[in-house]
Amino acid sequence: MTTQSNALSIVAQTYDVVVVGGGIAGLTVAYRINNNNVLLLEKEPFAGGRTRSINMGPYVFNQGAQMIPGGDTNVAKLADELGVKLTLINKTKTSTYIKDKFIIASSEFKYLLSLPIPLVEKIKMALKILHMRSRYSNVVDKSPRSGDPKFKELDEKSIVDLLKIRDPDVKALWDSISKSSSTLRADEVASFQPVNTFLHHAADEFFVEGGTVEITRALANQTAARVETGASVIEVTPNDTGVAIQYEQNGIIHSVQARKCVMAIPAPLTLSVIRDLPDAKRAALAQCEYGAMSSAAFLVDKPSEYLFGKGNWRVPVVGMTTIGIGDPTFTFPEDLKLQDGRGLIRLYAGNDGSRMLQQMSDDEALEVFENDLCHIFPAARGLVIERSIKHWPYAICPWRIGRLEAIDDIRAPYDNIHYCGDYTENSGLESAVLSALRVVSELLDCPHPIITNKS
Ligand SMILES: Cc1cc2nc3c(=O)[nH]c(=O)nc-3n(C[C@H](O)[C@H](O)[C@H](O)COP(=O)(O)OP(=O)(O)OC[C@H]3O[C@@H](n4cnc5c(N)ncnc54)[C@H](O)[C@@H]3O)c2cc1C
Repeated sequence: MTTQSNALSIVAQTYDVVVVGGGIAGLTVAYRINNNNVLLLEKEPFAGGRTRSINMGPYVFNQGAQMIPGGDTNVAKLADELGVKLTLINKTKTSTYIKDKFIIASSEFKYLLSLPIPLVEKIKMALKILHMRSRYSNVVDKSPRSGDPKFKELDEKSIVDLLKIRDPDVKALWDSISKSSSTLRADEVASFQPVNTFLHHAADEFFVEGGTVEITRALANQTAARVETGASVIEVTPNDTGVAIQYEQNGIIHSVQARKCVMAIPAPLTLSVIRDLPDAKRAALAQCEYGAMSSAAFLVDKPSEYLFGKGNWRVPVVGMTTIGIGDPTFTFPEDLKLQDGRGLIRLYAGNDGSRMLQQMSDDEALEVFENDLCHIFPAARGLVIERSIKHWPYAICPWRIGRLEAIDDIRAPYDNIHYCGDYTENSGLESAVLSALRVVSELLDCPHPIITNKS
């Protein structure tokens, strides 16, 4: 907020578009409209949002998004167009850490057989999985539509009710799938999110060479827009000629005018900067709360496969602060791994676990993760060379039961302000890109053209 010591700079320039937020959604809008009279404002010192990556040893620790969904997704096509290289995560194992045991199998069928649940539950689960595959495969990674009966079914019940789950261990398994995509338990979100994640697991997934940040870095480098970092937007107000935007950068308050404004920041932050929203819009955005996540990585003195075995890329963890553990070296060349002799392991925690870790110092939080690591892999004890942690207060937007009814209001533009970001779809990179493409098509309808080509 404005303080007495802030200098005020009134900038007369009027932009065609001001994009607020430089995550993948905002950057995709700025890149696609390909207009040099566009300003993108990003609060952090660098753009990228939840796609941050750092190097550890010869490997990459993706602190936020790990992988991109493959095949025909818009985000995979965008990466290709930008010249960003993707490597298929050729996982050959299905695994879970449950009841202090690793369940690892080379097929889904063998995995089901190995689960520590009664035989009758295994049979029920197999039948339900078959049903889910046949009924819902075509809604994976698609934009939720308010009139679609399949989305409606997945929106109005939790997976616990949809699949009539009673066994506590089966429930714990679905909790772990649900937490990885929504940060909440399976009975707290609509079945849409865990079903999407489950069906997604069996599909192709890609690792971005150099880290997920390479996609947003390429967008920032290739957009015609002016990108300002360290520029925190504090107020967005519609007016007679468009939208007035105030932002703070290096202690100076700037005011700019835009014909159109695109809000590409999480919904709760949007609500804190826009004044005068219609009640329906405010209520719809208020439904989009976020869960927190914390990611940690450990560089260890043995190749990751020494601990994980071969073919294991990501393992859901049941019953610990850590909800998932993965091998970020999975797609790296075997020669490099053998020659280097070190490995990297990533662990992450969601919502309650993450909030607890965020109350601690980084060293204390890393101790919690390292204890989980050594509990899961006792052979990791004494191997840790370097460690790193990142907390995300706005990590993932859980899809609460009944949200489909509000989805049109969540997306609707008002007063020359357009809304994008993963929360306007499902969650994840594909959702963020889908939301950006929707906003680009909304901007195409402007009476005076804003988009010059590429769309
Ligand atoms: C730990 C973790 C793991 C994940 N794993 C995956 C995965 O494997 N695959 C996948 O597809 N998705 C994954 N996701 C989700 C994915 O990262 C997000 O869905 C996606 O990056 C969201 O993009 P966005 O542009 O909508 O939002 P963001 O990336 O959050 O971008 C919003 C931007 O707005 C900026 N901002 C906020 N307030 C202001 C302000 N007032 N002024 C100016 N700028 C502001 C922020 O700094 C940020 O850069 C993961 C997320 C997390 C946290």
